[in-house]
Amino acid sequence: MKKPVYLDYAATTPVDPLVAEEMARHLTIDGVFGNPASRTHGYGWQAEAAVENARRQVAELIHADPREIVWTSGATESDNLAIKGVVEASGSHIVTSTIEHKAVVDTCKWLEQRGVEVTWLAPQADGRISLESVAAALKENTRLVSLMMVNNELGCITDIQSIGALLRQRGVLFHVDAAQAAGKMPLDVASLNVDLLSLSAHKVYGPKGIGALYVRRSPDVQVQAQMHGGGHERGMRSGTLATHQIVGMGKAFELAGKSFEAEMTRLEQLRTKFLDGLGGLEGVHFNGSPECRVPGIVNLSFEGVEAESLMLGLRNLAVSSGSACASATVEPSFVLRGIGLSDELAHRALRFSFGRFSTHDEIEFASAQIVDVVTRLRTVR
Ligand SMILES: *Cc1c(COP(=O)(O)O)cnc(C)c1O
Repeated sequence: MKKPVYLDYAATTPVDPLVAEEMARHLTIDGVFGNPASRTHGYGWQAEAAVENARRQVAELIHADPREIVWTSGATESDNLAIKGVVEASGSHIVTSTIEHKAVVDTCKWLEQRGVEVTWLAPQADGRISLESVAAALKENTRLVSLMMVNNELGCITDIQSIGALLRQRGVLFHVDAAQAAGKMPLDVASLNVDLLSLSAHKVYGPKGIGALYVRRSPDVQVQAQMHGGGHERGMRSGTLATHQIVGMGKAFELAGKSFEAEMTRLEQLRTKFLDGLGGLEGVHFNGSPECRVPGIVNLSFEGVEAESLMLGLRNLAVSSGSACASATVEPSFVLRGIGLSDELAHRALRFSFGRFSTHDEIEFASAQIVDVVTRLRTVR
């Protein structure tokens, strides 16, 4: 059987073959397999050099100093470490939004249950968080604001730079989940005025299970470890470093830095082709900002057609309804509800996301399939 066309790059991306090669060189007896913390022999030194090279590659993509990169198991852990780590070090009020990734929403809820005061901002109808709403939420004791740069369900981009400038001026720490932004737009932690930034390898053609947290080097930015042990990563995250995963992330981020401008232009073309292909369909709602968004994520609601039945009909397309983490439940996506979509339209939404290996033929096929199936489902209704 032919494999379905993969249109779920926002859930995860395949590992780039160049990344897989790099990883394979760091596993076996004839490769660099040592423990990077081993100081007594060359196996350890070589592994440490590989890890430090990767740290530089990741730092370069976001214009950070390599010493500001802390390895984690992924963006989920980075979000947890940033938020719990700051609150534990210096308490008090935090501000976030209702359409963050679950890794931020549930971390903040957990802290809330333990007595930390949390303000939940509502997004604008286009899915972006406004500077005004952040400014209005700040209080005397606000310690941290946590917002995502690119929303994983909608693809819309929040103006992190302006919010960062305000927060720096007010002396409030700023954590940004950039898992969906890395490799899709220029990222410069200094000009964005962020203090903490979460990254994941597997959204950028690297392996799953590895990520990083950027922690700005400043006495103002104190993060308490959430994982205790050997004191790795400047005491912020203990555990033997996963050399093969880390070099994979490094290579993936290096490739992203080289190719993202050309790649984004190509994805923009694919997106136009995709939407043009749906041009004949009536009753299609575009969810999220049509302007301020990354080109690879398109979220659409189809009037009169449930997402579940549409997905059944689209067996030869791999797409997502709601976010991957929420799709185990039948609840409509909290993100779509968060931007004010009716339950009905939220139940009728699908996310299509393209990436590095998507082709023009695949996109043409996908939109033709959607037109077919939506038309058929509407007539049998
Ligand atoms: C995928 C994703 C995460 C989780 O990253 P993992 O590396 O899978 O833990 C967090 N935030 C956003 C915005 C994401 O898209």
